[in-house]
Amino acid sequence: MLTTVAGFDRIGDENAFAVLARANQLAAAGRDIINLGIGQPDFKTPPNIVEAAIKALRDGHHGYTPAAGIEPLREAVAADLLRRFGTTVSPANVLITPGGKVTMFAAILMFGEPGAEVLYPDPGFPIYRSMIEFTGATAVPVPIREQNGFAFSADETLSLITPKTRLLIINSPANPTGGVTPKSEIDRLVAGLADFPHVAVLSDEIYDQMVYDGATHASLLAYPEIADRLILLNGWSKTYAMTGWRLGYSVWPTPIFEKARKLAVNSWSCVNAPAQYGALEALTGPQDAVAHMVGEFDRRRRRIVDLLNQVPGISCALPKGAFYAYASVSALGRPAKVLASELLEQAGIAVIGGPDFGTLGEGYMRFSYANSIDNIEAAIARIGEYVGKFAK
Ligand code: PLP
Repeated sequence: MLTTVAGFDRIGDENAFAVLARANQLAAAGRDIINLGIGQPDFKTPPNIVEAAIKALRDGHHGYTPAAGIEPLREAVAADLLRRFGTTVSPANVLITPGGKVTMFAAILMFGEPGAEVLYPDPGFPIYRSMIEFTGATAVPVPIREQNGFAFSADETLSLITPKTRLLIINSPANPTGGVTPKSEIDRLVAGLADFPHVAVLSDEIYDQMVYDGATHASLLAYPEIADRLILLNGWSKTYAMTGWRLGYSVWPTPIFEKARKLAVNSWSCVNAPAQYGALEALTGPQDAVAHMVGEFDRRRRRIVDLLNQVPGISCALPKGAFYAYASVSALGRPAKVLASELLEQAGIAVIGGPDFGTLGEGYMRFSYANSIDNIEAAIARIGEYVGKFAK
């Protein structure tokens, strides 16, 4: 019998991928499946980006690149952050990564070890907890509550910090809730962090362009007082409909940038060269495709929430960001994961049960509205019909 080191007994999973596989399997068997499960835009990558990557290959950009990424791309990331948030970031602190997820992998590996505590949002992206536990650190959930608009509470977060806390993970706009934490709350958090200089912060801002109702994204980059301990996670997957390209970036404080770069050299070497040229075009080319996609997500957001609220037993607040509706299904009286599985197997609708995002997820269901209005309407009609059989 092979034995692996203990960490591998603790590594978790992302159930959205299992649901996607099952949905594809059912579809391949001829079932009519509508996917509101996986969090990826249904749009195609804008053609100027695709063309730039093809051209890069034709121009001979097929070899290794520097581990931290091609220089023009690191510069373009810095210029984009300056343009959008007015914050000066040196290209020397930018690491190009194979997907946004890799930044959390690297940051959690860097700060997690037995005896350390890492704070993460619950409900939240499942990989945070999985990776924290993998390192042997203690995963300390920061509750994200519906009555707080699914924003994190600065006071509650700060109250969970102990001398053992090494890393605080925050995520706004958030997966799975669509919650956006107001700037005033982030101000309070940053002010409070002055008392805890031993705590690094990982800010996952992958949905930063998906905020609605005229709101603007409040980036943690805008706080110079924590710049020496902030790791920013971002990337192209959601904003530019590039999930399968595997492209992300992070900004690291100078003292640990080299460690992150060495981790790159020791694992992925560098990101796919033509993909980096596509990413460069994404940041430096026209941005109207982004505006179009965000406008569409906004329209779908309103429609799905309206429709969900018409289903007896389901209630859903209007999310402020990302592309997820996070609805309460507790009145239906079924455990959320059981209901999610029934909806896929029997009604042909892929959704993700709240418990896949944390202990506070029971009673909730995540609906990704990165799908067409027609599909959203058909899906919620089928869900209504299915739950109508047992809803009181
Ligand atoms: N962070 C959050 C909150 C996400 O929801 C996701 C993807 O679903 C990621 C990071 C990872 O993105 P990528 O596909 O670029 O690895």
